[in-house]
Amino acid sequence: MEHILDPTTDPTWILESAGYDPLRENSVESRFAISNGFLGVRGGRATTRGARWVVPARTYVAGLFDTPGADHAVPELVPAADWLQVHILLSGRPLVHHPGDVSSHHMTLDMRRGVLLSEGHHSKAPDLQVRVRTLRLVSLSERALGLQLIEFEIVNGTVDVTFEASFEGTDLGLVVDRIEQDLGVWRTQHSDKSLAIAAASSLQIDGQDCLPTERGDLSSSWHWTARPGQFVCFERTVAIVRSDGSAIDAGAKAREKLDLARQIGWRGQVAAHEAAWASRWHSSNVEIEGDPAAQQALRFALYHLNSAANPTDERVSIGARALTGDVYLGHVFWDTEIFLLPFYTMTWPEAARALLMYRFHTLDAARAKAAGMGWRGALYAWESADTGAEATPEQVVAPDHQVIDVLCGKQELHISADVAYAVWQYWQATEDEEFLCEAGAEILLETSRFWCSRAALEADGYHHIRGVIGPDEYHQTIDDNAYTNVMARWNIRRALDVAGLLRERWPACWTRLSGRLDLDEAELKQWLDVAEKMAIRVDPKTGLFEQFAGYFSLEEIDLKNYADSSMPVDIVIGRERTQKSQIVKQADVVALLALLPEEFPAGAGARNFNYYEPRCSHGSSLSPAMHGLVAARLGDADLALRYFRQTASIDLSETYVTIDGGVHIAALGGMWMLAVLGFAGLALRNDGIAVDPQLPGNWHGLGFRVQWRRRCIRIKIDQDKQVLEATLEAGETMRLVVKGNEHELHPDAALRVFTGKR
Ligand code: BGC
Ligand code: BGC
Repeated sequence: MEHILDPTTDPTWILESAGYDPLRENSVESRFAISNGFLGVRGGRATTRGARWVVPARTYVAGLFDTPGADHAVPELVPAADWLQVHILLSGRPLVHHPGDVSSHHMTLDMRRGVLLSEGHHSKAPDLQVRVRTLRLVSLSERALGLQLIEFEIVNGTVDVTFEASFEGTDLGLVVDRIEQDLGVWRTQHSDKSLAIAAASSLQIDGQDCLPTERGDLSSSWHWTARPGQFVCFERTVAIVRSDGSAIDAGAKAREKLDLARQIGWRGQVAAHEAAWASRWHSSNVEIEGDPAAQQALRFALYHLNSAANPTDERVSIGARALTGDVYLGHVFWDTEIFLLPFYTMTWPEAARALLMYRFHTLDAARAKAAGMGWRGALYAWESADTGAEATPEQVVAPDHQVIDVLCGKQELHISADVAYAVWQYWQATEDEEFLCEAGAEILLETSRFWCSRAALEADGYHHIRGVIGPDEYHQTIDDNAYTNVMARWNIRRALDVAGLLRERWPACWTRLSGRLDLDEAELKQWLDVAEKMAIRVDPKTGLFEQFAGYFSLEEIDLKNYADSSMPVDIVIGRERTQKSQIVKQADVVALLALLPEEFPAGAGARNFNYYEPRCSHGSSLSPAMHGLVAARLGDADLALRYFRQTASIDLSETYVTIDGGVHIAALGGMWMLAVLGFAGLALRNDGIAVDPQLPGNWHGLGFRVQWRRRCIRIKIDQDKQVLEATLEAGETMRLVVKGNEHELHPDAALRVFTGKR
């Protein structure tokens, strides 16, 4: 087992935590979580198990939502039983009865291999020393599987050992269906889902298999007298299956998957899992030369991004904290489409497709939401869970302990255009015709139809969208939010494009779809009119967008005066004053500039950025990366680097308490966007891809791979030599635009382009 428990040595591939600090435990658990998009296990300690005050390492299962019976309750992700529970007793006393008891404890997240490792030395008495090393993984090659390894060495002393492996917290909101020796099956209380966990474990002492001394329901224990130098290896494999409805016997399926896993053995499972990670890293790694801290932070982001998705399940998407914590209850926001999809679309199209198919499968719920509010077409839930019905809570407790009404579920409409945006980007990047014809087109058309019914033609001849919340949630019930209206207009135009495309290239598909949606010429014409006459508030002289009607005349507050406050500014100065001021919660017009730069009048990008940046309080973790991306594109790589570091610190610095409830997966997606779309300046075009590097001064180079229309392209930017090298590793000749100059990229020869000024 030895080398399997040894972490990768290169520090940019690992994250370490030593000792014990009760105040940091929760954030360490989020940061050190392991996940495969189906299972997520928080990084709780392996050797403190059993102590009453220690929360077990929560395991989350994607899509396992239930709605508590209370009034106005919304669905929430229900944790599964803790399958990692182990008690070690030495002469009847727990090996660890207090977390601080471990003389030395070290935990390593090996991001390269996707495993969590720990090592602890325990001195129970001067003459009894024990060393415990552990590994835990959830398999990336077979997502139902979890594996736990514990190596236990008596360094000196002779002692009676009891080793008990069981399950804990088997009643966390789930109803027990049946518990057997090797199988537990549970049901959700209201949502008709079941969860089965089949488990098998083995223990070897000095290489010899030992049968358990006792066996109970989901528990086994071993008892023996240990001598110095003795090596004990414990292994437990679980297979976890979620079933929606009663079509699948989850218990039988879990047993079947466990049997297959046992056939290849745990070493085989580790090897298959590591091979799957190696393949993900091959496609998605981004290498930064000259800045090891930035490299490690970006690896951390990529580690969690690769952990969060599951290309084999179209019924789930990624919650705001992925499967690493329970803040936002596992709900899916625009975070997925706007901050995560770019990474998946360009490095893992299969995962991107599954995430978009989740939106397709929840299209009926989006239609129902629109209809319920008196509109046509599809309005996606601001917060979405398993069915796609609106899951935004009506009230929340704010950081100042006040209960406040949440209007986002009714007013934050831009989500529909965000989904449409991601659909179109995916189509542009992949040319996945089957997806477009069977799912993507319908999403584009139905969201467009929503906007065209929601926007109202008024006496001034323009279509207005009133009473909304934009990305900047500090301002509610506002009119004509620039982000919403421009994205809506873009959504409508792309829907018209897709109608034209289908007609021309797949007429049978168009006939079927337009017939089913009852979409005729007259309606398409009305869409064109809405798009052309959408109310967009932009100053014709300066090209400055007004964030919403009346924004320019609100109170200007200098945010520098609040720079040292640890509380969000809306709490410090009060919500009411914030509403009446120009303080922006997060990138709004700046987000629009990041997503649709071509919608800005020539040269107006910088003006908008310079105007809105000082007004932004970055009250959301989503904000700094968007600013960094725009700053990089505008040529200010040093400012962009500051935003890159600020984004990295959200989940990595020790001071950011809000990581307790899980990592901020959108901010992590934003880091990839900042690096690849910002610093490398990568952009999708109709006829190829474009790059326009803008690296920070201290970076010597940047290298990454992207996929585009069945091709794989490797890009290496050498800042010292001012050379960009592009290699087409798979697929046919394509167009690559470097700094505005068009080149052909051929399969047989790398392209080298001088990027400096001549
Ligand atoms: C977020 C909203 C969300 C609400 C309720 C707020 O903190 O900003 O986007 O809908 O919480 O979950
Ligand atoms: C942000 C939203 C975001 C949500 C979940 C909120 O604080 O304002 O834009 O979707 O958090 O991350």
